[in-house]
Amino acid sequence: MTPADLIARAAELLQKSEYAVALTGAGISTPSGIPDFRSAESGLWEKHDPMVVASIMSFKLHPEAFYDWVRPLARVLIEAQPNPAHHALAHLEELGILKSVITQNIDTLHSRAGSHNVHEVHGHLREATCIECFTVYPAESLIQDFLHDESKTVLRCEKCGGVLKPNVILFGEQLPVRVLQAASRDTRQCDVMLIVGSSLEVYPVADLPRQARAGGARLILVDYEQTAYDKMADVVIHGDAAQVLPRIVEAVEAG
Ligand code: NAD
Repeated sequence: MTPADLIARAAELLQKSEYAVALTGAGISTPSGIPDFRSAESGLWEKHDPMVVASIMSFKLHPEAFYDWVRPLARVLIEAQPNPAHHALAHLEELGILKSVITQNIDTLHSRAGSHNVHEVHGHLREATCIECFTVYPAESLIQDFLHDESKTVLRCEKCGGVLKPNVILFGEQLPVRVLQAASRDTRQCDVMLIVGSSLEVYPVADLPRQARAGGARLILVDYEQTAYDKMADVVIHGDAAQVLPRIVEAVEAG
């Protein structure tokens, strides 16, 4: 099939669907300037051991190490804007085709692009929680202050002085149960799953396409690289999500 055929086939599956959902990973946000986990050169983990800087155990023992690592990344995350791929998914929701987005991303770019039904299974950067008294704070202004004041080594709770942890899921932490339940429910219900920019290596999310397939859903995969699911998918498009998704939406609207 030519690239145009693949786009047309993906659009046709979406048009005929009754309950389509998207599953997204870090790759949908690389065109917004946020590095993903695994791509060569830009990979976030090339210079750091995730188990050291981004595990809940080490966060509790050495929160300064986490904040030191996250400082440059936080700047990128705060400044990033949704790209055409995020907007394309929001538009598919507006058209009534996409029922939800299940995302592993913590960057909040789906909701900022206008998607309403977003399951953020690895948490998000909108809030931070005190690890001592569990007071929850809106995170954006705290992160802005932290970025402007280099003398701050960690964020602290105004009430008890405890360390604040952004509401993102660190290694070794439980995923948010209600969000995961909603993602599982949509996975069971969907008849098309549009998977974008994920290596599909991080569990339990990596198992969702298999569950969707087992329930009879068609899989559309958009990624630069091959994944373990390529053979199982109905349509595989190896390309840039920011170019491919708007073309799929165009084809849906033209069809
Ligand atoms: P990953 O880094 O494992 O895989 C990213 C995939 O996207 C790769 O297969 C890569 O080939 C592909 N890709 C990169 N840019 C692309 C583009 N423009 N178009 C199409 N494909 C592209 O990411 P993952 O599977 O989401 O890994 C999961 C972990 O990464 C999660 O825990 C998530 O929380 C975390 N993460 C999130 C962000 C974010 O919020 N933006 C950024 C980095 C990592």
